[in-house]
Amino acid sequence: MVNVVKEQKGSALVVRLSGSIEESVNFEQLIGAPAPEMNIHCKEVPRINSVGVKSWIKYFQSAQQKGSKLRFYECSTAIVEQINLISNFICGGTVESIYVPFSCTNCKSELIGQFRTEDLRKLQLKLPQLKCTKCGGSAVFDDIEEEYFAFLNR
Ligand SMILES: [Zn+2]
Repeated sequence: MVNVVKEQKGSALVVRLSGSIEESVNFEQLIGAPAPEMNIHCKEVPRINSVGVKSWIKYFQSAQQKGSKLRFYECSTAIVEQINLISNFICGGTVESIYVPFSCTNCKSELIGQFRTEDLRKLQLKLPQLKCTKCGGSAVFDDIEEEYFAFLNR
């Protein structure tokens, strides 16, 4: 089940998606006709399967064809995976910020950090360490840099 919360903010329609994107998703019905400017927040999308990907691309591609300006914010790790796998996943839009997986070097807890794409480019993949929320130890990036940040080089 996907839940959609919409809010008009200035000139942009803010769309907050939450829930797994799977078979039953009808974005046309959930979001409605695409707005000229759309800021899509994907923080709460824990997974998206192949059928979900198809409906996603169908909806946002038609938005792109109608001239919508698409910006994706707070992309969850599941969404980042698709952005890297499928070159037209963001349908001509821009990735503004993403979540990045970290793990604590001390207690092995997994945590996520949010980064703006612009800052990631500036950091040139030299990610800062995060402070572990459980033990206060330091957490380091926990994935394969060349894969997780592949989309930055497009
Ligand atoms: Zn820890």
